[in-house]
Amino acid sequence: SPVFEIQGLVKGFNGKTVLDIEHLSIGSKAVTAIIGPSGAGKSTLLSILNGLMKADVGSLIFEGQDMIEGVKLGDPLRRSMAMVFQNPVMFQGTVYDNIAYSLKIRKAPENDIKEKVNEILELIGLKHIALQKAGTISGGEAQRIALARAMVFRPKVLLLDEPTASLDPANVMQIEKLIVHAKKEFGTSVILVTHNMFQARRLADYTVFMLNGNIVESGDNERIFTNP
Ligand code: ADP
Ligand code: ADP
Repeated sequence: SPVFEIQGLVKGFNGKTVLDIEHLSIGSKAVTAIIGPSGAGKSTLLSILNGLMKADVGSLIFEGQDMIEGVKLGDPLRRSMAMVFQNPVMFQGTVYDNIAYSLKIRKAPENDIKEKVNEILELIGLKHIALQKAGTISGGEAQRIALARAMVFRPKVLLLDEPTASLDPANVMQIEKLIVHAKKEFGTSVILVTHNMFQARRLADYTVFMLNGNIVESGDNERIFTNP
């Protein structure tokens, strides 16, 4: 069954419609890529999925609950989602502290925090800088840490807005490895906004093409990427 079910969703700014989706189901425990040019409405869609923004009309069902009324910051539904932006912000403290943060605010026990943070530091190849101040690391490392911070509590949903847009190939590979790990090992439903058709083809199970706020094409990758 889908993790999100959208029906007749419309969002406008200053009288201009920027999102108009008749119907969209987003598969559970899969990677769904959302592709489209700048201004297509991809970020707006992510914000609505995350409950950060409210649609004007329509329904958005997540975990059997309608999210359109907007859910508050501390809502357990939102707590089961994580989002990573294109330019990640590092918090104060060490690399370790940054990743531990999302477990701490969810009141995970200390030994559980230690185990999970160390496991993911290993996975992203940054264990050697665990105790370095997060403000002193490179952009590529920061993006890996931001994704680790979002994944470490094993969210139901991971919303990624162009997570590899400004990265070199080695960092892109690391990020993609993490995304696959989230899906396969944590059972996370990943929604990946990307400009990169090759990335969608490599990573996604399902791809959605957007243009001017509409979905112009969508389907299983097998079908989407084999038709001429
Ligand atoms: P994408 O992520 O595909 O580049 P966006 O969702 O960011 O597209 O934007 C879709 C359209 O909505 C754009 O025309 C953008 O200018 C407009 N838009 C997005 N957010 C706002 C806002 N807060 N106020 C006014 N217009 C906005
Ligand atoms: P040790 O006590 O030998 O360092 P631990 O199991 O306590 O072994 O931790 C292993 C590594 O995990 C540490 O070297 C450090 O990188 C990281 N770590 C564990 N807990 C913390 C913490 N509270 N703050 C920062 N880093 C930590």
